[in-house]
Amino acid sequence: MKVPSLLTLVFVVSSLLFSSCASDEETCTETTWYQDSDGDGLGNPSVSTTSCTQPSGYVADSNDDDDSIATSTGSTPVAAFDDFNEDAVTVSFDGDEITIESNGLPNHTSPYWSESNSLYIAPSVANESQMSPGTISSTSYTLTVQATPEKASSTSATGLGAIGIAVTGAPIFNDEEGPNIALSANVASGFDYAGAHMGPTGYHYHLEASNVTENTTLSYDDEKLVGILQDGFLLYGRKCDATSDHPSDLDASGGHIAATQHSDGEEFYHYHIINETYIGSYILLFGVDLQGTPNTIM
Ligand SMILES: [Zn+2]
Ligand SMILES: [Zn+2]
Repeated sequence: MKVPSLLTLVFVVSSLLFSSCASDEETCTETTWYQDSDGDGLGNPSVSTTSCTQPSGYVADSNDDDDSIATSTGSTPVAAFDDFNEDAVTVSFDGDEITIESNGLPNHTSPYWSESNSLYIAPSVANESQMSPGTISSTSYTLTVQATPEKASSTSATGLGAIGIAVTGAPIFNDEEGPNIALSANVASGFDYAGAHMGPTGYHYHLEASNVTENTTLSYDDEKLVGILQDGFLLYGRKCDATSDHPSDLDASGGHIAATQHSDGEEFYHYHIINETYIGSYILLFGVDLQGTPNTIM
């Protein structure tokens, strides 16, 4: 009886070897992907394809009843608010609403602090003559947004003044320096390394931070959270955590639906700084229309 059992063993071992070789060669498993025409992360159950990797414009989900309009934009991940400067910003959650209050004082160095402040740094020679008048002082900003913001049926242009609150506590402005006056190269050269300067209402950001060693708080060509805009959608740096690269699926507002470092795999709609230079080597934080309904920042 020894001979057949040895043969059986040889057969079993060789089958195992064969099957493991075969599975090494077959490196992919095909799955079904559903078309997502409206980019809301939900797929059309009647349009599908199978492939090993996710095709562009297709998702694994198959629950979209109407793939011509975005039906879900997801909830803002609460963990994102841990990135805000707690010395300046207070965040309160009340049912469907989130309120962000700030004193506008950033937690980083700037030549716009008064010289007696510990965060004051001397201006660089290049921009000293372009600096706007005034020093950083406390200014109150309050923004109340929906915890689950939705895209509006039409987009909204942003206005003068604060259009969002950055993680540092200072406000985010758009691409204008006055009514229908775009930022100029002259004005831009007065920005500090953080992409901010002074205006009549106080210290504010227009541009992405420069790549300098002092820059520890705002995004520079990375996936850091920059802040929250007045329609309730978060604004991230030029890269997305979902791919660790510049996203290629952004809409006209720099937005898309993807997971971020804050959302534990959950996909939700958020903006990115659009990876295009604005003036010289400067990059705007947000110079496009809002996809949601803007709330007033008071
Ligand atoms: Zn300004
Ligand atoms: Zn993203």
